[in-house]
Amino acid sequence: MTQEKGDGKEFISHAPGYWPEISQELWNDWKWQLKNRVTSLAQLEQHVELSDEERSGVLLSGDKLALAVTPHFFNLLPDDNPDDPIRRQVIPRIEETWASPYDMADPCGEDSHMPVPGLVHRYPDRVLFLVTDRCASYCRYCTRSRVVSGAGEQELHINFEEAFRYLEEHTEVRDVLLSGGDALIFSDERLDKLLSRLRSIPHIEFVRIGTRVPIFLPQRITPELCAMLAKHHPLWMSVHVNHPRELTTEVKQALERLANAGIPLGNQSVLLAGVNDDLETMKTLVHKLLMCRVRPYYIYQCDLINGSAHLRTSVAKGIEIIEGLRGHTTGYAVPQFVIDAPGGGGKVPINPGYILYHDNEKIVIRNYEGKIFEYPETGNEQVQFAPQREYHDEYLYS
Ligand SMILES: *Cc1c(COP(=O)(O)O)cnc(C)c1O
Ligand code: SF4
Repeated sequence: MTQEKGDGKEFISHAPGYWPEISQELWNDWKWQLKNRVTSLAQLEQHVELSDEERSGVLLSGDKLALAVTPHFFNLLPDDNPDDPIRRQVIPRIEETWASPYDMADPCGEDSHMPVPGLVHRYPDRVLFLVTDRCASYCRYCTRSRVVSGAGEQELHINFEEAFRYLEEHTEVRDVLLSGGDALIFSDERLDKLLSRLRSIPHIEFVRIGTRVPIFLPQRITPELCAMLAKHHPLWMSVHVNHPRELTTEVKQALERLANAGIPLGNQSVLLAGVNDDLETMKTLVHKLLMCRVRPYYIYQCDLINGSAHLRTSVAKGIEIIEGLRGHTTGYAVPQFVIDAPGGGGKVPINPGYILYHDNEKIVIRNYEGKIFEYPETGNEQVQFAPQREYHDEYLYS
């Protein structure tokens, strides 16, 4: 049986899909969705025809990152096409067990920037707070696969009390980003307590949650959850959508509930080979995001995480996509392309070259059509240009 999954341009619902016998009430219950995740080879083979690469991947990757896909998200997978962009994100492949010379266990150097277990303090005024190691489903390219899902060797030890004490003492921290794992896996009560505790720290101005739950498990975005979150404003949210087909009717409605609760929404995509590494797919994605009231925020060059070489693209591909968006479509639809610098340098913006020349007299620029323009440097003070560090190998990671 071939299932028509569409080209992703429309918002469609795939329910009940592979679960025709389930009542709507159970289907809409997020705890049922979590309990009934597809986690084993037998369950997978009950629904879809696996390729040899996928079957070996499932058998051999289990000690690195667990397999889990919610029924809602599983319904996006066709049963007969292993090259499908949704399938590539969540079904393991044998290539995951291959080592590439660039692969790392902790590509963004997070472990060396943790003053307290669970808190990554890399930038001057903000911290990343890893509050859980569990997610609704697992992404095969996860940059935190060393700790996420509980399957790998390394465990995420979170010391909440120590983390709160650190945040209280560090008055320079004005922005806390909750991630993991996925904080929206917590119960409303637990999340409410966590947010209240953070809100009791006066110098924390801004709290955001990085989550893929609205995409993997839109049923979790209940009116009660939204009402609870709205008590903790200003609260922002970054969701994670890579392919336009992930934006189903249910996901759109979940995002609307969050937006209606006053939560500004951004999206982070990872550039992935065979998933979203072409301009047309990305353009459809960013346009659909705006229709869901989500502002495209970042496109990440895929981190050099162990076993992800088959999902990585060239950096040039990301630049080409930005070049094809900027000026050609709504400015709000254009995310910032970044590389999270290997070893712990943080996010570095990567842009097409729009500056052709710049000195104290003029700047020469080109627009999205390639037309060239000049703008005079008429400021009275002489500008000190940001030092263009010459490239030397010894600067690497310094
Ligand atoms: C991404 C990230 C942040 C947030 O960065 P923004 O550019 O402000 O979104 C903060 N801390 C760490 C460690 C991060 O990786
Ligand atoms: S949802 Fe985020 S943290 Fe969880 S597996 Fe996917 S990328 Fe990793």
